[in-house]
Formats: sequence, C-alpha cells, structure tokens
Amino acid sequence: MIRDLRLATLLTALVCISMVLMTAWQIWTSRQSTLGDIQTDTLNLTNALNTYTEGTFKQSELVLLGLTERIERDGTGPQQLERLSALVAQEMQALSQLNSVVLYDAEGDWTFSTNAPMSSGSNNADRAFFKHHRDNPDRGLFIGPAILSRATGVWVISVSRRIDHPDGSFAGVIAATISLEHFLKLYRTIHVGQFGAISLTTSEGRLLVRYPFKEEDIGLDLSPAPIFSEHLRKASSGSVDFVSKVDGIHRIYAFKRSDQYPFVTTVAVGQREAMQAWWNQTEQSVAVVAVLLGLLIALGRRLISHINRRIGAEKKLRSTQTELIELNHTLEILASEDKLTGLANRRHFDKFLDVEFKRAKRLGSPLSLILIDVDFFKRYNDHYGHLAGDECLRIISQTIKQCVRRPGDMAARYGGEEIIVVMPNTNEAGARSVGEAILLGITDERVAHVTSPFGIVTVSLGVATYGSYDDDSDEQALIERTDRALYSAKSQGRNRLNVAVEQVQGEHI
Ligand code: GH3
Ligand code: MG
Ligand code: MG
Repeated sequence: MIRDLRLATLLTALVCISMVLMTAWQIWTSRQSTLGDIQTDTLNLTNALNTYTEGTFKQSELVLLGLTERIERDGTGPQQLERLSALVAQEMQALSQLNSVVLYDAEGDWTFSTNAPMSSGSNNADRAFFKHHRDNPDRGLFIGPAILSRATGVWVISVSRRIDHPDGSFAGVIAATISLEHFLKLYRTIHVGQFGAISLTTSEGRLLVRYPFKEEDIGLDLSPAPIFSEHLRKASSGSVDFVSKVDGIHRIYAFKRSDQYPFVTTVAVGQREAMQAWWNQTEQSVAVVAVLLGLLIALGRRLISHINRRIGAEKKLRSTQTELIELNHTLEILASEDKLTGLANRRHFDKFLDVEFKRAKRLGSPLSLILIDVDFFKRYNDHYGHLAGDECLRIISQTIKQCVRRPGDMAARYGGEEIIVVMPNTNEAGARSVGEAILLGITDERVAHVTSPFGIVTVSLGVATYGSYDDDSDEQALIERTDRALYSAKSQGRNRLNVAVEQVQGEHI
C-alpha cells in the first residue's frame, strides 16, 4: 500500500513535470520559428526597398547623364537652355520622383532651374554637393544629405553630377532633387506596427528619411548604433535585435547596404509587437496546460488521499486486531484464573490435568497431585467473618504459589477452601517434599485461628502419584486417591500430609 502511495505520487509528479517541460519546449521552439519568420520577412522587405531606392537613384542618374552630355556638347546658350528646359519638363513628367532639376555654373549660381525663376544673387556654392564636385574631378553620381529645398520648400535628397569644360576644368553642376515624400509615400503603405520604422541612411549612418516621419530626425547621426558600428562592418545585409538606447524598445532590425549607391535601408519592428501572435498563442497554451495540470494534480491528490485513507483504515484494522488479540488473551486468562486467589480455576485445572495425564500415560512418566484443605475453616469464617476468610485463602494461595516453582507445575483452586497442585513428571518423593514445604510454609505464616486447637491456620494435604503400579487407572481415579489421602490426613488429626499408599485391587486407604 505504501508502495502504491509512492508510485501514485511519483507518477503524478512525473506527468506534471513532463507536461511542463514539453510545454516549455514547444513554446521555445515556436518562439524561435516565429523569430526566424519575422527576421526573414523584414529582410525580404529591406531587400525590396533597397531595390526600389536603387531604381529611383538609377533613373535620376540616367536623366542627369543625358543632360550632362547635352550641356557639355551644346553649351548653355539661351537657345540650348530653352531646348534643355523642354526636355527636362518631359522627363519630369515621366519620373514623378524628380522634384527639381537645377544647373549651376562654376561659381554656384543658378543657370537653369525647373522650379523657381532664376534670381540674381541666389548662390548654392555652400551646398555640400557643389563643394564635392568642385573639389573632386570624379564624374560619378553624388548623393547629398536630405535638405530643405530653397526653391520648393520641401525636404529633398539631391543627386548631382559634375560638368566639365572640354579641357576637363570644372564648368558647374547639374543637380536633381528627389522629394522625401517619394519614399514616404511607399513607406506609409507598409505595415511595420506602432513601434516599427523604415529608414534610409547614407552608408556612413547619416539619416536621409525615416518613417514615421519627424522633421527633427533628418540628418541624425546613427553611426554609433550597433548596425553601423558593428554589423555593417561584417556583412552588407543581415538581421539583429537589440534594445534601442533612445526609447528603450526592443526591436528586430533588418539592414541592407546598396551595392550600387552609398546608402543603407533599414526596417525595424517592435519585438513584442511582432511576436504578439506568438504571445497570444503562448498564453492560450499556458492556460490550457495550467488547467490540465490543475486537473491532474487534483486527480493525483484524490488518488493519494484515497490510498492514504486505505492505509489509515488498514492501520486501524491492524490495531483493532491487536487489541482484539490482547483482549482475547486477557479473557483467556480471566477465564482460566480464579478471581479470589489468583490461582488457576477449576475449569483450567480439568483441562490441564487431562492433557498432562495423557502425556504421562504416553511417556510412562510419573504425575503427582497434592490436594490441600484448610483445617477448621468453617470455624475461622464463623469467628473472623467471611471477608477475613477470603483474605486467609489469599495468604494460603500465595504460600502455595511460592512452593510450587517448576514451570510445568500448576496450582488451582479445586473448590471452596481446597487447592490442588498438579506436578507432571514428578514422583511421589518429589510430591511429598513439595507438600511438606507447603505444610511448613503455612504454619510459618502463623495466621491466628483461635477456634482451632493449633491456634493458627493449618492445612491438611493428601498426596497421590500416578506411576508404573497404576498404569490402567484414569485421572479420576488419581483424584479420588488424592482425596482419600487427604481424608486420612484429616482423620489422623489434621495439620499433616498423607501420601496415598500403593493401591491394592478392591481396597482403599
Ligand atoms: P475441616 O476441613 O478441618 O474438616 O473443617 P472445615 O471447617 O474446613 O470443614 P468444611 O470443609 O466442611 O468447611 C469448609 C468451609 O469453608 C465452608 C465455607 O464456609 C468455607 N469456605 C468455602 N469456600 C470459601 C470461600 O471462598 N471463602 C470463605 N471465606 N470461606 C469459604
Ligand atoms: Mg473442605
Ligand atoms: Mg476444611
């Protein structure tokens, strides 16, 4: 039963632990796969946006390339500028991203502009793109920082090329501007969540445009951020996640550096927000598992308490059984004991003698009986009262008990004031010596008995032994012989012991 209890406890604990472990494992693997999916999606989106931005710059570059060739070939006379104006108008119609096209001379003054009428004194020699081309003979496309257009008043990114004189000296700059709105229009259609962002930065980490758009973000230096300071140094694209130092939000970032132009596209999503579906699913699984665990624990507890109850019932049964056995034993003792004297009672004596007599007969061993009767006891009772008589009987019984010491012997109250001693495996001489010890022991007690001629309480004893001379007799015959020996002791004057002599056929002592 205790083993059942241990087994039930162990099983319940094992099932609970495995359920928790399996759920934790499932949650962990589904988190990893969700994270992987988010990383793939954001990276794909970043690549697509990078391609789109590259296309935008490529188209602008092609426009500028055509215009450069034409200006270098035809010059910038009034007629040429007019034709140029018509051509640019056509191209701007086709390419919506172009916000303006401006031609600067070698001093930075406007020679031609699509947006505002040229005003004398307007000079852009201070702009970064102009300085770059003036000081750098490179004929490639220059992508400038995001600036607020002086001509149109909107935020733009400038792309520009250097124009040379035929001798290779600096002739000016042809620049086009792409409005940030061109990028924002696309970014707004993409769902990146409340904590997500899409950014376009220069490859050094200077912010060109960011969605959600905030004017103050433009030109922000992001080079210390991990993407620029760490990850872009190792790979041109990838996915990372970290907690933003600016707003403390944990985001997943995907980044891509363009192979063709010096810019980087970044897409970020709030980790918690992007993982919301996973969180919901996790909460549901945890709730279901918690309910199942609760049920399992309740069942386990019921089972354990059931086993405990059974153990308790069994324990109680066992203790009741022990109590019953003890009670039976007590009852047995009570049933075999004489209450007044504490000696065995008559019933016990009968059984005992029956068994011992048969054994003696079987083994051919001797068995002796001593029958003891208090002398003048009627007088004692009459003189001292019945209660004193009882006490006297107790004293006599104690004395007899002390004289009958062998474990196989038994002293019993035979009836009234008569006590009988059974001594298995004891011959006549042995029985005589025990009888004499009893006789002496009782006179030694010196219990006063004024109405007795002896002045003290005395007993008479009859002794008979079953032996070889009496093989065919039964226990009844032995008792009768003992009784007769006692009778002789009485008639010989009491306070003495009389041993039954060998029985002669048909003759009694
Ligand atoms: P004797 O044996 O010497 O011939 O004389 P006696 O007076 O003892 O003779 P008898 O055997 O006739 O008397 C026995 C008396 O023992 C009768 C009874 O009053 C008393 N007696 C028997 N059983 C008990 C007992 O349990 N308690 C008390 N107090 N007296 C008992
Ligand atoms: Mg008597
Ligand atoms: Mg008597």
